[in-house]
Order: sequence, then structure tokens, then C-alpha cells
Amino acid sequence: MREYKVVVLGSGGVGKSALTVQFVTGSFIEKYDPTIEDFYRKEIEQFASMRDLYIKNGQGFILVYSLVNQQSFQDIKPMRDQIIRVKRYERVPMILVGNKVDLEGEREVSFGEGKALAEEWSCPFLETSAKNKASVDELFAEIVRQMNYAAQPNGDDQCCSSCVIL
Ligand code: GDP
Repeated sequence: MREYKVVVLGSGGVGKSALTVQFVTGSFIEKYDPTIEDFYRKEIEQFASMRDLYIKNGQGFILVYSLVNQQSFQDIKPMRDQIIRVKRYERVPMILVGNKVDLEGEREVSFGEGKALAEEWSCPFLETSAKNKASVDELFAEIVRQMNYAAQPNGDDQCCSSCVIL
């Protein structure tokens, strides 16, 4: 059994936890406690250098924005720059994700904008919904596929992955 470390990056509220929980348990977390989010944000700010460490140890990266929040799309760019810097410009398994596609009526980031950014970064792009599970399994399957490839495919071992949500 192969084990991989996947890091899920994106600004607060884009659905990093919801996507991970949906994939692992098959259920959707509806409740949202901004107080708790604020607490975690402060913790992370205080230990900003920790992010470098998680990135250093991460083997695959899921970069998430919310397609109903243009700011979250802007926020993802410096996070990708940080990965590139920490990984010393090596090619790393990565996927760009526009989450909350179930909220089509509130969309602020077009499919084309997401796709264009992914092309610029030469990585795959998916629009997902942690709420109705759209493309969630595909997302994790794709990152595992990339990590298998990066780890030199040598047969058909089973694999599993653990997530760090930043
Ligand atoms: P995180 O801070 O990135 O981990 O975001 P959370 O996973 O805590 O999600 C933030 C809020 O968005 C929660 O209220 C979730 O229920 C909601 N949410 C997450 N994913 C989706 C989605 O795909 N669709 C909808 N409609 N809401 C979502």
C-alpha cells in the first residue's frame, strides 16, 4: 500500500474541508462557524512558516477557489507561487479546482477563467460541488493519478492518501 500526502490549499470558506469530508465520508458539512474559521485563521497566521513545511512534505496539491467568490480566485495565485518556490521550481502534482458549481446563479468566476489559469499552470482543472458530490471523486482520482505518475508507475499497487488542509 502506497501512502501519499495531499495538501489542500485555498482561502477560508472555499470548501476545502467540505470537499475532503465529502470524499472520505460521502457526506456534506452544511454548518459553518465563522468563529471557528477565524480561530484557525489566526493560528495559521501565527505559524505562517508552518505552511512552508506542509508544502515541503506534500506530494500533491489541490488548489481550491470558490467560483462564487472572485477574491478567492485571486488568492489562489500567490499560494501556487509559494508551492513553486518551496518545491524549488520542480514539477509537482497539482490540480486547480473551482468549487461550489451547484451555486451557478451566483457564479463570479467563469469556467473559461479557471480553465485559462490551469492552462497557464499546465495542470488539470475541474469544477466541483462538495454539496452534490459533482466531480469530487474525479478530483481525488486525478491527483492520485498524477502522484502515481510522479512516483514512477511500477505496477498496480493500491494506494491511499492523507490530507492536510491549509
Ligand atoms: P474551508 O474553510 O475552505 O475548509 O471551507 P468549508 O469546507 O468549511 O466550507 C465553507 C462553507 O461553504 C460551509 O458552509 C460549507 O457548507 C459551504 N460549502 C462548501 N462546499 C460547498 C459547495 O460545493 N456548495 C455549496 N453550496 N456550499 C459549499
